[in-house]
Amino acid sequence: LVSRENHPERSVIEVGGVPIGPGSLTVIAGPCAVETPAQTLAAARMARAAGATLLRGGAFKPRTSPYAFQGLGETGLKILADVRDETGMPVVTEVVDPASVELVASYADMLQVGTRNMQNFALLQAVGSASRPVLLKRGMSSTIEEWLMAAEYIAQRGNLDIVLCERGIRTFEKATRNTLDVSAVPIAQRLSHLPVIVDPSHSGGRRDLVLPLSRAAVAAGADGLIIDVHPDPAIALCDGDQALVGADLAELAGQITGLAALM
Ligand code: PEP
Repeated sequence: LVSRENHPERSVIEVGGVPIGPGSLTVIAGPCAVETPAQTLAAARMARAAGATLLRGGAFKPRTSPYAFQGLGETGLKILADVRDETGMPVVTEVVDPASVELVASYADMLQVGTRNMQNFALLQAVGSASRPVLLKRGMSSTIEEWLMAAEYIAQRGNLDIVLCERGIRTFEKATRNTLDVSAVPIAQRLSHLPVIVDPSHSGGRRDLVLPLSRAAVAAGADGLIIDVHPDPAIALCDGDQALVGADLAELAGQITGLAALM
């Protein structure tokens, strides 16, 4: 269902009226985690001012440590919905278990399946039955084939509105959190008709790499980017080291627009 063999045309997926796919370079931006209404609104305004058209933000955070901030849950979803009303930006947010798909879908415009859940087959089937587009992140230790098979689980349930997101894979390199697999972009686009975007924030885990990784992603043909921004990264409850502020995002948006125009 997701293979390009039977569907040679590359697909465009709409999220609350915003297209992702060939013909557009979609920027999704927002805080890693929803912390407060003011923080989320400030991040959304920074994102929108820089040209981002979709708002990201985690209300359910799958953290490595059980002692780390786990997200605000439904309170966070309500904040996201309020900020969407205020800014007009459709919302992309993560869902971590099948039982909460309905709840998250009642607030969100797009359901994100994170790297740690890429092979949570019950979750894939549940989002496959939901009436919302899905952002499927690549498992950090998954091959491209496994990633596409995960997308197939979603599609098999009737939901073909899927966007693939390369977010870095595990390698021996320790300078970055994960290694952005730039080659996955053209390979996945050749094998599948689904749009492919890149997360330069979670792959590198470092603010100074977000801009160069974004340029690399766009040069490789990515259909969009998903980027962490925070009004005050130093006090972020989650992944502050990789968060951009508004001026950085505006600089990034200017550079990738120039790069895309050359291609
Ligand atoms: C996220 O985007 O908030 C996130 C946790 O990303 P990943 O699943 O890629 O680590």
